[in-house]
Amino acid sequence: MAEVFSIPLTTRFRGITVREGVLLRGHAGWGEFSPFLEYDDPTAAPWLACAREAADLGWPAPVRSHVAVNVTVPACGPEEAHAIVLAGGCRTAKVKVAERGQDPGEDEARLEAVRDALDAGGPGGLVRIDANGGWDLEEAVRRIPVLARAAGGLEYAEQPVASVEDLAACRRRVDVPVAADESIRRAEDPYRVRDLEAADVAVLKVQPLGGVRACLRIAEDIGMPVVVSSAVESSVGIAAGVALAAALPELHHACGLATVQLLTGDVTAAPLLPVDGALPVGPVEVDPARLAALAAPPDRARHWQDRLARVGSLLDGTTS
Ligand SMILES: [Mg+2]
Repeated sequence: MAEVFSIPLTTRFRGITVREGVLLRGHAGWGEFSPFLEYDDPTAAPWLACAREAADLGWPAPVRSHVAVNVTVPACGPEEAHAIVLAGGCRTAKVKVAERGQDPGEDEARLEAVRDALDAGGPGGLVRIDANGGWDLEEAVRRIPVLARAAGGLEYAEQPVASVEDLAACRRRVDVPVAADESIRRAEDPYRVRDLEAADVAVLKVQPLGGVRACLRIAEDIGMPVVVSSAVESSVGIAAGVALAAALPELHHACGLATVQLLTGDVTAAPLLPVDGALPVGPVEVDPARLAALAAPPDRARHWQDRLARVGSLLDGTTS
């Protein structure tokens, strides 16, 4: 069984306003196949492997019952940043920085507000920044220490620069740990990050990397601390990320899996939203009425059924 969904986003993300995908039902449960629209079939193949794993095989046994997650603060003003952190109830905040068109002082003001809001919940809150590769190397080296001071310390700086070579150079020139996110897109990328010693932390996403077992293997091979992050899936897709985070032998950092609130609806009556800064580990039950209400229009459903069939035959090796 394959159901095509279409869920409007609360805010624009990667230039899209609607998140689409297919839910697969197998004997082990539900899986989500939602590669971004511009991805070709070979790029989408690991996304389908991840969905099939969830539907047909299920996941390895968890070693924890909850997964700590971060609240994400967009490149907004300080008052809004403060309110988002207070409302999020998380002990780790990921703050977007290096937004094009903003002046550097705006990042500092946002980080001071975030620190202030975290401290209101008691000591020990962590701040990480995410530049989405928006700095060049010299800017990153100059900006990171300034922002670390504004934030009262940084857990790490995520993708301060775009290329993996610059990431490696940046890591050698700043005191703050560096995380690789956009530098890890395909299954071979984490090994490149490791071989170049380009990061202290690897951000892994289960769909692009081929599923929970594939990511567990990568994490073991690269021997780096991992942060599991989402591709802004429905709760069905998020559950795969939670399953990975739950099965990792060690998990030192909060994960980027609290993204269901970016969707205006969900396919379950129990969306994977954080409670006390954590997500529960366990299966997600799809609610037929909610799924029906989020069904994609016929032309989009056809597009996805065709894509599913093509990527499926690629994965099965039956394509000519
Ligand atoms: Mg990122």
